[in-house]
Amino acid sequence: MRIKNGEMMKVLVADAINEKGIENLKEVAEVVVDTSITPEELVNTINEYDGIVVRSRTKVTREVIEKADNLKIIARAGVGVDNIDLDAATEKGIMVLNSPESTSITVAEHSMGLLLSLARKISIADASVKDAKWEKKKFMGVELRNKTLGVIGMGRIGSQVVKRCRAFEMDAVVYDPYLPEEVAIQMGVELVDLETLLKRADFITIHVPLTPETKHLISTEEFEIMKEGAFITNCARGGIIDEEALYDALLNNKIGGAALDVYEDEPPAEDCKLFELDNIVLTPHIAASTKEAQRDAAIIVADEIIELFKGGTPQNVLNMPRIDKESYKQLVPYFELCDKLGSFISQAVSGKVKELEIVYCGELAELNNVELLTRTIIQGIINPILSSPVNAVNAALIAKNYGISVTEGKNEDAKGYDSLIKVTAKTDKSSFTADGTMLNVPKIIRVNNYWVDVKPEGYMFVAKYEDIPGSIGKIGTILGEHDINIGVMQVGRDEAGGEAIMILTLDKEVPIEVIKELKEADNIFDAVSLKL
Ligand code: NAD
Repeated sequence: MRIKNGEMMKVLVADAINEKGIENLKEVAEVVVDTSITPEELVNTINEYDGIVVRSRTKVTREVIEKADNLKIIARAGVGVDNIDLDAATEKGIMVLNSPESTSITVAEHSMGLLLSLARKISIADASVKDAKWEKKKFMGVELRNKTLGVIGMGRIGSQVVKRCRAFEMDAVVYDPYLPEEVAIQMGVELVDLETLLKRADFITIHVPLTPETKHLISTEEFEIMKEGAFITNCARGGIIDEEALYDALLNNKIGGAALDVYEDEPPAEDCKLFELDNIVLTPHIAASTKEAQRDAAIIVADEIIELFKGGTPQNVLNMPRIDKESYKQLVPYFELCDKLGSFISQAVSGKVKELEIVYCGELAELNNVELLTRTIIQGIINPILSSPVNAVNAALIAKNYGISVTEGKNEDAKGYDSLIKVTAKTDKSSFTADGTMLNVPKIIRVNNYWVDVKPEGYMFVAKYEDIPGSIGKIGTILGEHDINIGVMQVGRDEAGGEAIMILTLDKEVPIEVIKELKEADNIFDAVSLKL
């Protein structure tokens, strides 16, 4: 048992968790279970504890964390950490961890339930029998065997669904632009683009986070491309399927059926049109709700705390470790810039990032340890594509798992600035470079070869176009026609008549249809909408 200053470590279990987790914790710590502790009591007693375990009831606020002078770990038995002030914990050097894998099997099994319910019309047949009807002909189903499963998002849950569908003798095609080819080969799945998946899949299952890129990923155009009679399920997040377009596709029998566990609004409005349809199966966001998932969450966080108290490193840490105060202070001014640079490049580059080159210039080149900045850039690159938060502690590992190689360099020449960070992302299709600096606020001062001066924030837009008269006006006109107001415009070009780049800050997001319209216009080579 780990002892500090002659005393045993002390852990507060502030929300109800499975007994097995508590039992395991007792092996290394004195455990206090108080699942009705009030916010005031928590603030007043938190400094007694070395660890705290919560689910979603207890709010571990900045006020609590500021009083938590002995706390080393905040453990969330589950996935979401909205109830924990991650920044405050990080500032104080307290690890925050969760148990994202605890629900993967449970959600995958729910997805299977929905697929089967769709294939065999189980839920409507059930309602019909309970309505004293015997409508055998109405409920002719289809087999899963020999059908193609289309998996959108091959992360923790998507890969478990594939595993289960193999037992049903299904083939799988996967759309996940961030999954390295080698990993797909190892998993024995075929990586395809979204259009191919929509054309080939008999059953489509969605397992991506909700991001600007995945919002309405499945809408009218995608339903049009799908096979007649295809089935689709969404156990990920509401908003990935456009519910208006889904309603039309179901009403017109364009697709065979749909099953949802998550909705654009939760709960859906009482007069939600989807309720009128009988080719849809609906569950109330329960995909993760099983006894086993709760038990596993408790056991996983208990094991993580035990690991930490025994001197090891927990696996699912969401923030960064303690570093000495002086080194930390020198890096602090650059964290926001690094996060924004990463996020900007991740959204602006086309294709999946394979290589990341980071060069620290000027004063930053003199610092011994800039690894936390590198990790913050990686965090900015990866966060837009993953559902659970990536941070300075886990960023490097996740980049490695995603097949992104990272190189760090130094250069004394900061092009007239005190410090400069130059980040280049290389993908299988292209390469994109942005240089940033701090001028009281984060600034991007160079993009590819062009000098610019942009504060990366809010809604942004990047276009590449032919440098001929009328190109800039055309972009402005199309945006104006869609009532999109431009805040700041920056343009740069290599040479007259060559390729030019435009960076805009906007008052609102450029919708996908407008991006399509811009890309189809003559002399515009590329157009991307960004949210920083
Ligand atoms: P994960 O982070 O392990 O996997 C997400 C996968 O999506 C990754 O492989 C990533 O590369 C891929 N991806 C990201 N952006 C993409 C895009 N634009 N197109 C295609 N693929 C993309 O996440 P997970 O744990 O498997 O969770 C998947 C989803 O399930 C998340 O949205 C999560 O919030 C949700 N979830 C829902 C419930 C529920 O109760 N219904 C419970 C747990 C998780």
